[in-house]
Amino acid sequence: MTDGAAKVIESLGISGFLADAFGRLTSRDPGTFWTSGQWMTERRGGSDVASGTETVAREQPDGTYSLSGFKWFTSATDSDVSLTLARIVDAQGRVEEGSRGLSLFYLEVRDQEGKLNGIEVQRLKEKLGTRQVPTAELLLDGCKAHRISAEGRGVASIADMLTITRLHNVISAVAGMRRVISLAREYAGKRLAFGKLLKDHPLHMQTLARLEVETRGAFLLLMETARLLGLEETKLASERDLHLLRLLMPVAKLYTGKQAVAVISEGLESFGGQGYMEDTGLPVALRDAQVLTIWEGTTNVLALDVLRSLSKSEGRVLDAYCSVVQEPGKPTCLDLASSLGRYEEARAERHGGGGSLSTDFRHVSHNAAGPPQNSQSSIHGCFPCRLYPES
Ligand SMILES: Cc1cc2nc3c(=O)[nH]c(=O)nc-3n(C[C@H](O)[C@H](O)[C@H](O)COP(=O)(O)OP(=O)(O)OC[C@H]3O[C@@H](n4cnc5c(N)ncnc54)[C@H](O)[C@@H]3O)c2cc1C
Repeated sequence: MTDGAAKVIESLGISGFLADAFGRLTSRDPGTFWTSGQWMTERRGGSDVASGTETVAREQPDGTYSLSGFKWFTSATDSDVSLTLARIVDAQGRVEEGSRGLSLFYLEVRDQEGKLNGIEVQRLKEKLGTRQVPTAELLLDGCKAHRISAEGRGVASIADMLTITRLHNVISAVAGMRRVISLAREYAGKRLAFGKLLKDHPLHMQTLARLEVETRGAFLLLMETARLLGLEETKLASERDLHLLRLLMPVAKLYTGKQAVAVISEGLESFGGQGYMEDTGLPVALRDAQVLTIWEGTTNVLALDVLRSLSKSEGRVLDAYCSVVQEPGKPTCLDLASSLGRYEEARAERHGGGGSLSTDFRHVSHNAAGPPQNSQSSIHGCFPCRLYPES
């Protein structure tokens, strides 16, 4: 969120008090560094902030605003500053409903003396996971804030923050999967069952191989999305890059969020009963992963965002995607599938069989090529197969 707040400030123009905030949010000096929250969700809506936001902003004689309202989910409650949405009350005491009534505000959580800035922590949320990060319900009662977007442009202005937080969500998903697989691989080299190490049981290794394939795929998707974002931020992106970024960001977030929960769950099983024991530190990985599908946009809400990107661009985001995957010389999922098939044949010749890596790639290639030949709807299948077993 800190990274996202810096991006919003940068895109709105860095001047005045925002210059100091930007310097602190991007500083590497622990003495000056600040963190930021993002307070959007209210009781009536997280997905639907346009109609769910009840917080109001009253302009003060000095040009600042006084915020009153209730923020229902605020993570990193211990942050120094926050960006938040509110409806400006006009001279007649009215507010405009819908997203056109929302403006974006910047606030500092504490004043110079360290006192909370018109903010009351009502309670800390009792969460399933991510308990390292405090998430609170906050009452804003005369909280001093600065409007940093044009009036009514709050949702559009905070979109830059969501781009960044969604990318960080993908990073967390990939990192969570990688961590559990690394531990599982290590364990497979130590644990004996039926007189052999787990790593010498082909079926166990097939399970780990499938998790590995999913994780590597997710990692590549993350790196490609980050590459496109880097091009956009340095103004080197072509029109096609921008379309691709618009399409891939929600796809990467929604897909890897789901993937992390399934991969980490399967990863826990690979430790047998130990995977379920708190003192191994493994269950917390699954609890932490569950939120990746919820915050920064649930899966369905992001799926609708993908559809919005298609209709708003009149299909150009999809053209960009197709032109990239069909580019001559670029390996597609299908190429990967067939090369893995060849790899497996060669491997079988040398070792006389074993786990089938190509099965995973047939499933991965399902995305690009429609249903696989021998579609098996088990939890080991690919995500489209798992989510849509009848396809
Ligand atoms: C641990 C945690 C920390 C959080 N931290 C923050 C934070 O720091 N700042 C912040 O602003 N928010 C935060 N949130 C809130 C989070 O972003 C929201 O919970 C999330 O966006 C979903 O909103 P909601 O809870 O209002 O659910 P709802 O919007 O009520 O959604 C409920 C269900 O309905 C579905 N749904 C909603 N609309 C549609 C639709 N149009 N079509 C189909 N399905 C739909 C959703 O997919 C979901 O399954 C946090 C949440 C959690 C769990």
